[in-house]
Amino acid sequence: MARAATDYLMDFVAGLPDAPASDLDLGSSDRLLAALHRPPPDGPTEFAALLELVRAAAAKGLETAGPGYLAYIPGGGLFASAVGDYIARGTNRFVNLAGAAPAFAQLEAGIVRWLCDLFEFPPEAMGLLTSGGSMANFSAIVSARTALLPRDFLAGTLYVSEQSHGSVAKSARLAGFPPERVRVAPCTADLRVDVNALETMVVTDRSNGLQPFFVVANAGTTNTGTVDPIPALADLARRHGLWLHADAAYGGFFWLTERGRARLAGIQAAESITLDPHKGLFLPYGTGALVARDGAQLRAAHSDDPAASHYLQDLEIDLGVTTIPNFADHGPELSRGFRGLGVWLPLHLHGLGAFRAALDEKLDLAAQAHRALAADPRLEVPWEPDLSTVAFRLAGGDDDDNRRFLRRINDSRRIRLSSTDIGGRFTLRMSILSFRTHADRVAEALDIILDRAHH
Ligand SMILES: *Cc1c(COP(=O)(O)O)cnc(C)c1O
Repeated sequence: MARAATDYLMDFVAGLPDAPASDLDLGSSDRLLAALHRPPPDGPTEFAALLELVRAAAAKGLETAGPGYLAYIPGGGLFASAVGDYIARGTNRFVNLAGAAPAFAQLEAGIVRWLCDLFEFPPEAMGLLTSGGSMANFSAIVSARTALLPRDFLAGTLYVSEQSHGSVAKSARLAGFPPERVRVAPCTADLRVDVNALETMVVTDRSNGLQPFFVVANAGTTNTGTVDPIPALADLARRHGLWLHADAAYGGFFWLTERGRARLAGIQAAESITLDPHKGLFLPYGTGALVARDGAQLRAAHSDDPAASHYLQDLEIDLGVTTIPNFADHGPELSRGFRGLGVWLPLHLHGLGAFRAALDEKLDLAAQAHRALAADPRLEVPWEPDLSTVAFRLAGGDDDDNRRFLRRINDSRRIRLSSTDIGGRFTLRMSILSFRTHADRVAEALDIILDRAHH
């Protein structure tokens, strides 16, 4: 089975440069869809037949692994991470309590420690590998709520900007806050949060009896990769006693590069940072991360009362030489997969230099794409990218013109772009973050875009 699956994946990866950027045509797929939806049979099925079904299903969708994927926030999915996951699942270790797999827990703790050190957090910092950025934002909010608010926390108020990711407001809701407790600060014309307006909101809310406690710094917005003025937000957070959370799900790993460090300067002052290895570390979907300056606050919010779980008492063993964390005490999950191996393996196999070079390449490619698009008078390219996303529209075009423009581009099936709404206007975006996207595909993308840039 493993050999056949590997053969399939080798073909899949080798075919990525020529694979269509999308295949969402389900018109003639009735039989495929019915077969995929069928309940499990009572008896066995040949593996080869099942693999064939999987192969046909994988072909349908956006080619999120391919070099032409420039939509949403790409990543690609490093093959070494899939191999790590394969071994992690094959060995089926339980890493969330150190007593069950201390050595693998130590490996995952090493990854988390590396992330804390990367952002110059103190020794008492701690973190967690999550399923993605959304769950990292959720645990950050629950930690801040536990640390800063009374048990009756409904006056607690959180601050995001117009450009913050929707997962922050959603997490606040899941954490028990009514929607009106998430306040949306305006942005200035450059799409960065207006810190003065934000401060006025905090002061007004406090004088109205609310309890401001949490503010988000966007360290690379999803729409345009724009970085908020983090030092000014850190200063505001300090003056008003707010928990500064950096949502660096998209932008965080650019910190590995010199230009990224300059653009994200000040992020080290945050109380907590959300990162998405499945974006900036190019891993397959399913791995996010949260780091918190004070690990005790993460534990206070997420640890379980041992008296409620007597059946786990044998796992509270004294490991003697060292303290290996129980990740279950730092996040919502008890049983979960061993996420650490899929992060550790590619990082050690390729080395940080390879990641730094790939991220630098994406910054170069985005700057290049911005120059080429901005030079064409038929296009409106309002913002210079801080990171690796370029937003643009047809000059003088309305939303429908731009919707058709996007469709013409995607009909090429060599690249896939996506759109968003900025300031009430339909806006196309080209996000360059797959490790498989290089200068040749970006040049082709620019040819396709400029060739189709008409009303
Ligand atoms: C992608 C993203 C998220 C959500 O992360 P998921 O991994 O999709 O859950 C949150 N914030 C920002 C800025 C993002 O780009």
